[in-house]
Amino acid sequence: MKYQRILLKLSGEALMGDQQYGISGDRIREYAMEVKEVVEAGAQVGIVIGGGNIFRGVQGASEGMDRVQGDHMGMLATMINGLALQSALEEVGVYTRLQSAIKMDQIAEPFIRRRAVRHLEKGRVVIFGGGTGNPYFTTDTAATLRAIEIEADVILKGTRVDGIYTADPEKDSTATKFDTLSFEEVYKRGLNVMDLTAFTLSKENNLPIVVFDMNTRGNLVRVVKGENIGTLVEK
Ligand code: UDP
Repeated sequence: MKYQRILLKLSGEALMGDQQYGISGDRIREYAMEVKEVVEAGAQVGIVIGGGNIFRGVQGASEGMDRVQGDHMGMLATMINGLALQSALEEVGVYTRLQSAIKMDQIAEPFIRRRAVRHLEKGRVVIFGGGTGNPYFTTDTAATLRAIEIEADVILKGTRVDGIYTADPEKDSTATKFDTLSFEEVYKRGLNVMDLTAFTLSKENNLPIVVFDMNTRGNLVRVVKGENIGTLVEK
């Protein structure tokens, strides 16, 4: 296997499947099976999940809500998704722990780095909920931060497109895909991999990023084994 310890970032929107809002049972079960496959292959797996399928702070702010209140709602949305993912994983026999950046003892463990690493070493999947615990950040930044803290080999950004393109492939049919990119090239070309806070944090800590299509069965394990099916961003 190319990567022993991974941090998988899933967007909240990906959980909607064909729905307009919320959590698709079929989609979350598919993701649980993908994760089970990599755990059985021997990888240690941390997961950060977004909340955009339920609430985003900026969306609240555009409708007149206080931004910080909205961001708190967004962070709680990531906990709802984290609980759903935990349940789906346990249903297929994967041991998990949910750790929260915001204290909610009855629902999840608090985020404690050493404890998270211990869970990973024991083969448990650790879901990191609550984002970074701070407003004005995103779950991409939370994913990068947690990846660095747990010393993951890579951050795997599972999306519905199969990599990073010269332009948005859903809008521009002439767009072509990159197999690999350096951090510098991403800046120079102004490509949208993650938000800049998250991206800069990855670059400064030399944490490789792979963007890949999470919605094709078997892709996660292929990426972990080192198949170049997405786009790899590294030094
Ligand atoms: N959020 C936050 N701080 C964080 C992470 C998330 O305030 O560290 C809030 C923010 O309002 C964000 C929402 O949670 O819009 C959901 O996260 P995100 O938009 O990153 O989810 P995704 O796009 O991955 O579904």
